[in-house]
Amino acid sequence: MQTLYLSADAPGCAETAAEIIRRGGLVAIPTETVYGLGANGLDETAVARIFEAKGRPQDNPLILHVAAPEEMESICHDIPPAAYALAKAYWPGPLTMVLPVKDIVPKRTTAGLDTVAVRCPDCAITRAIIRLSGVPIAAPSANLSGKPSTTTAEHVRHDHDGRIDAIVDGGPCRVGLESTIVDLTADRPRLLRPGGITPEQLTKVLGDLVVDKAVTAQIDKDAVVRAPGMKYRHYAPQEPVVIVAGSREKAAAYIRSHFEPGDRVLCFQEELPLYAGCDPLAYGEEADVNTLSAGLFAALRELDDPSIHKVYARCPTGGGVAYAVQNRLKKAAAFHIVNAEECL
Ligand code: AMP
Ligand code: MG
Repeated sequence: MQTLYLSADAPGCAETAAEIIRRGGLVAIPTETVYGLGANGLDETAVARIFEAKGRPQDNPLILHVAAPEEMESICHDIPPAAYALAKAYWPGPLTMVLPVKDIVPKRTTAGLDTVAVRCPDCAITRAIIRLSGVPIAAPSANLSGKPSTTTAEHVRHDHDGRIDAIVDGGPCRVGLESTIVDLTADRPRLLRPGGITPEQLTKVLGDLVVDKAVTAQIDKDAVVRAPGMKYRHYAPQEPVVIVAGSREKAAAYIRSHFEPGDRVLCFQEELPLYAGCDPLAYGEEADVNTLSAGLFAALRELDDPSIHKVYARCPTGGGVAYAVQNRLKKAAAFHIVNAEECL
């Protein structure tokens, strides 16, 4: 199959992409979080193609993307006031809500759950594509399953050229990490995945928030969990990743003393001089966490290379968006963390 490349600002882009979606095709779409691999979320056959193209396990449900907040009512029932309050505060934006699903949504989209994940993305071209296609678009991250997510159209081309109908190029993703997911179907609101909408922002609106253990620990692959998908190995380059915690100086001393040829260092821009000779790669500035979230997946993709033995990674501390960066890096490292303060 020949993949069609569409520039987001070219005339007719949204119409062409929407037409492909309506016909049951696959279109990679830009969003503020990561690039998604989109299809008609109400068409079981189209949705099956997403799983096939990604090599995604069937029990990993998809997020449905809507063009406007009120459209959640077409796919969800018994929507609680908290969902309307969150939508008012943070939609369009990098927030996904899990709500009770209506029968109109095929089981394949929700992996058989009685809930569905829904989001209104903050990306004009993608909202136009959804609006023109007339259906919610199911879209997981556009990477091959298990690989670091796609934050540029070039990443999508690398993984799917010749295998999907079209790629809409909207430039690099602003947030660079997948959406925050909050489950509103249990007694208390539950954070299933941290992202660009922070736990602090959620708590401000909800007054309460439980953090699911899928966020903070490795989940057994056979476990039955509220956040299916979070139990799979995620975001990781093929070689092992080790997070080295501690002060700049202690971490550099630890890494330099353990570094072997073929290893790489993933660090903050400010730390590059400390790793001369250790092939460092900076993914953003420690002083500006948004550059870290925007740059993390591109860096992890660059490090996904069979010639690399091991990656030593530096991880930001603290809450807010740093909490989401920590979550992705810890998953990429399979929670392998050494504290340089205790090692010297
Ligand atoms: P992604 O792979 O980035 O598209 O994210 C989809 C993730 O959203 C899945 O892996 C699940 O963790 C989560 N998700 C989707 N639908 C549901 C649902 N109904 N209940 C709980 N989590 C969900
Ligand atoms: Mg994904």
